[in-house]
Amino acid sequence: MLWDDFLNSLHHDWRGDGAIDDRLDQPEWLDQWVEKHQLSVDHRPSPKEFIALKQLRTLLHRIVTDFAANSSPSEEDIEALNKVMADGAVIRQLARNSERYQLNLYAIGHQWSHIQAEIAASMAQLIAEGEPSRIRICDNPNCLWVYYDDTRNRSKRYCDDKLCGNLMKVRRFRARQKVASDLHKHEH
Ligand SMILES: [Zn+2]
Repeated sequence: MLWDDFLNSLHHDWRGDGAIDDRLDQPEWLDQWVEKHQLSVDHRPSPKEFIALKQLRTLLHRIVTDFAANSSPSEEDIEALNKVMADGAVIRQLARNSERYQLNLYAIGHQWSHIQAEIAASMAQLIAEGEPSRIRICDNPNCLWVYYDDTRNRSKRYCDDKLCGNLMKVRRFRARQKVASDLHKHEH
């Protein structure tokens, strides 16, 4: 989805100390990201547009943090999201997809403000039509990857059980071993 992929552009060194690597600052990454999401923009962001992009990311992050903590976003944040969406415009097209019809929305405009509106709309659509209570932030404090928990019992704690899940298991094991060996030292 557009919203979580955008949020995760703030990449953390999940294996190490959580150091932040902001991928929005990497022009090649940004070009690929625009292409991957079939967005259309005719230039790389200006310094002013970068600031606006990062402000949007901070806003979405605040909304996500509220939902992940079983709370809801503030009125101000919803209003700010609406303001970003007001810059967008779409055309609707009915398309036949084998057995059924589908209504497609295509963004018009090639400015960064239009892309921002699409990102905000993707978040708004999930809040309205999805289950925002399934929004999670990875439990590895050095990762903080944002994701949507689509498991049946809503029990997903890590972005990836094989990566962060395993890493945290190893860390807990080592911490227990350390406690055990410290106790042992005290006995002597
Ligand atoms: Zn993680």
